[in-house]
This record gives sequence, C-alpha cells and structure tokens, in this order.
Amino acid sequence: MKVLTFSIVAGSLACNAKCPFCVAPMTPANGIGTKEPAVNWRNFRKAAQLARDGGCSTAMITSKGEPTIFPEQVTRFLEELEPFKFPISELQTNGLLIADGRVTDVHLQKWYDLGLTTIAISVVHYERSKNKSIYTPHREYQDLPALIAKLKKFNFTVRLATVLVKGYLDSVDEMKKMIDFATANGVDQLTFRPVTKPDKSENESIYKWTAAHAIEDQLLVDCNAYLKENGSEILELAHGATVYDVNGQNVCMTNCLTIQPKSEEMRQIIFYPDGSVRYAWQFSGARLF
Ligand code: SF4
Repeated sequence: MKVLTFSIVAGSLACNAKCPFCVAPMTPANGIGTKEPAVNWRNFRKAAQLARDGGCSTAMITSKGEPTIFPEQVTRFLEELEPFKFPISELQTNGLLIADGRVTDVHLQKWYDLGLTTIAISVVHYERSKNKSIYTPHREYQDLPALIAKLKKFNFTVRLATVLVKGYLDSVDEMKKMIDFATANGVDQLTFRPVTKPDKSENESIYKWTAAHAIEDQLLVDCNAYLKENGSEILELAHGATVYDVNGQNVCMTNCLTIQPKSEEMRQIIFYPDGSVRYAWQFSGARLF
C-alpha cells in the first residue's frame, strides 16, 4: 500500500473565516465539534507509522475549520510527528491569526524548529478586496504581502493555495496576474484548484453557491495550455495536477476535475482527533482503524 499524503485533521469545526464555499460542513464530521478536541495520541502514532511504512513523505496538518485557532495543539502535533521524520510537513491555514499576531513569533519559531517546512495559505485572488469578500466579509482582511514576508523571515516555504472561483480567478489573464503577484512577493509555490463542486451536500446553501460559482472545465484546459507554452512542465502529480516552472515561479495547476486514484495506491490516510483513521474525506465508512 503506497501512501502519498498523511493528512492530520487538527483543530475543530471552528473557523474565523466565512467562506461561502467551505466544504467542512459538507463532509462527515467524524466526531469533530467546535471545541478543541482531545486527541487520541496512541492512534496518532499508529497512523503516522502506517504512513511512513507506506513510503509517505508529506504530513499535512489541516482542519475541518482553522487549525491555528489552537496553536498549542499544532505544536503538539509537530512534536508527535518529529520522531517519524517526515521530510515535508505542511500546515494549511487561512493565515488570519498569524497575520494578526495571535499565533505569535514564538509559535512560528517553535514550529520551524520542530520541522514544519511549508505554510499553505488559502486565497481566492491577488486583490485584498476580493479575498475579503470571500474570507472576511465581517472584518478586515489581512495584508497578504506582509504575511508572506513574515513567514519568509522564519524561513518557511510559503505556498498560496488558490481556489478558482467564477467571478474571482476565472480566466487565463487573471491566472497570469496571480502568478505575477506570487513572483513579486517571493511565494515559493503557487497552486490552483477549482472550487469543490460536491455531488451531494449536507448543506443546501453551500451546495447552491458552489454550483453557481464553479469554473468551467475549459478554463483548466486553457490555463494548462498557457502554462505549457510559457513555462516548463516539471512534475506530474498523482492527483491530477501538473507542476510548471514559469520564469522561475513554481505553479501547480489541476489538469482535470475528476481523477480517481489508482486502485492499488492509497492516496492519503486521514487522521481524526478521536483516533479514527480513514482513506477518503467524503465517506465515514472508508475506515482503516
Ligand atoms: S478558511 Fe477554510 S475552514 Fe475557514 S471558512 Fe474558509 S474554507 Fe472553511
């Protein structure tokens, strides 16, 4: 069994952003509430071992909400991960609490020292007002260039994980401007993926919003064609994405909306705080232990 990513569901359902496309309420809660959950550390170590035995090199701390709401828990996850020596460990975040200092410099330094390599900030655009309208319609949005500079100061690899949404980043021209923004701000990795359009939903309003704001399949074809012509293909990823070098800028573009992992390959294993370990986000029944 080959494992590509070890996903760790940290935090809770709580999030300080208000994305209308948030899929967290659309996938099974699997025992996650809104308070900081107690973690089954015994099973966490078993899951980490399983991932490493499967040749997995990337551990990704993610959440059904925002993981940095509980920064001490992020620290603990990194401490527990350390003995397993994952070469790459990543944290997915909306960045807001790092930008406003509630995740302190002490946290950031500790995370770096514990081996965290990459901080991936989710965004929908290079313009502050556009990100604000999605993430924080209720408050100020962060100064993204300042946040990137702060993380670079701590030597983190910074990734902008861009969600392609109709009315936001929805053309080749907009993609080019996003690449320019990333290059100008020293972003190490830039990824593009379409907003998730679920087949079915536990939440009608999110389902409707994502259906109305899903990008056309043709956009992916056009973006990939542009990147092929103006950059170099450097890596084909198993989950249906291609990495390009565009004038020195790393750009990863989804190349297909529906791709099934090869049956003999287990793309990822997912650890939930209650100790359950699964291999698919959308099915509670995809359970290993
Ligand atoms: S930042 Fe992530 S978890 Fe928070 S509302 Fe947006 S999509 Fe959901």
